[in-house]
Parts: sequence; structure tokens; C-alpha cells
Amino acid sequence: MQIARFTFNDFQENTYVLYDESNECLIIDPGCNNTFEQKTITDFIADNMLTPTMLINTHCHIDHVLGNRYISDKYALALYAHEIEKKVLASQPMVAQYYGLYYDPSPDITGVLEANAVINFGNNELKILFVPGHSPGHICLFHQKSNQLIAGDALFKESIGRTDLPGGNYDTLISSIRNELFTLPESTIVYSGHGDSTTIGHELKNNPFFR
Ligand SMILES: [Zn+2]
Repeated sequence: MQIARFTFNDFQENTYVLYDESNECLIIDPGCNNTFEQKTITDFIADNMLTPTMLINTHCHIDHVLGNRYISDKYALALYAHEIEKKVLASQPMVAQYYGLYYDPSPDITGVLEANAVINFGNNELKILFVPGHSPGHICLFHQKSNQLIAGDALFKESIGRTDLPGGNYDTLISSIRNELFTLPESTIVYSGHGDSTTIGHELKNNPFFR
């Protein structure tokens, strides 16, 4: 499984495209918010002759959903996320207005991803980990075969997600990370919603929130 990262919008949000030799791909947290960013991701998909099969949000904060409508329409994809994020998604038009951002409202979540569900694409499968605290229905996606994790905004390199937004909870986030992420193999590569990738082993040793 290959992972391509794109950094989009005013929040420097990481959008991920996961693909394999079958040429099927998943699009996670599309933050593309102008024609240049839209072209960047669609050119990548076209150049690699990929067929997107799922649109997924780790959580529905504005920086992660800005490109949902465009991607959903372009590839005729339903939106998958945790059920709890429906109410977070519903508040994003107001959030976009607050930040003065252009936002073509996302389609609703019609595909529900539950804790420990397994999703398939191409010749690969990903396990859904429920990691609330940054957002109440936040999920991460774990590729067991290669120990790679799409972490959203739960865990960052030497940091964690903020917990001061509606539905956030610091104690919940700390215990989610301990129970769901720090139990993964130390060699697991962590691809976060912002900034560089890291590993579970590096975070176990160096993350200041877990001293
Ligand atoms: Zn977020």
C-alpha cells in the first residue's frame, strides 16, 4: 500500500490518498479548497490511473472537510465517517463563516464507520480505531500489513490534537491515545493531519504529553 500526502488550505492540513497495485484508492480528509489544490489531487489520481472508491473523514473539522463536496461530486463518492461526527459536520458552515473561508458544504455522512470495523480497498484492508478527544467521533485508520497509521488530528509528532473545540476532551484524548495508538507496534509509521510523519516508538519516548 502506498500513501501520498498533500498539504492543503490555510490550515496546512494533510490530505492522504492511499492506493495499491490494483489502482483503487481511498481519499482521506480532502482539504483542497481552491482550483490549484483541486487540480493537484485530481492530476495525481489521473496520472497514476487510480480509481477512488471511498471518501473518508477522520473527523469533520473545517480544515479536513473543505474539499469533501468537490471530491464527492468529481468521483461520485459517498462520505464515510463515524456517526458522532454528523453533528460536527453540521456546524461547519458556521465555522467557515467565522474564519471567512469559502466552503461548498459537504455532503452528509451516509457511510458509517464504527470502532474496529475493517474496510477493504484493492488488495488491502484497514482497521478503524475509535480515538475520540480531539473531536467526539474521531477515527484513525490502521494498515496492519505494513504498520502504517492515518492518525488525523489525534496524535502529532511530539504533540497531540487540541481539545478546546466543541466536543473536545483532554482526558478522553489522552486515554484514547494510550489505549488505541500506543498499543500498536513501535515501528508503526504515523501520518498526521498536520506536520511531518512520526512513529509510535518515537512518540512513546518523546511525546511531552506522556511523560
Ligand atoms: Zn481537527
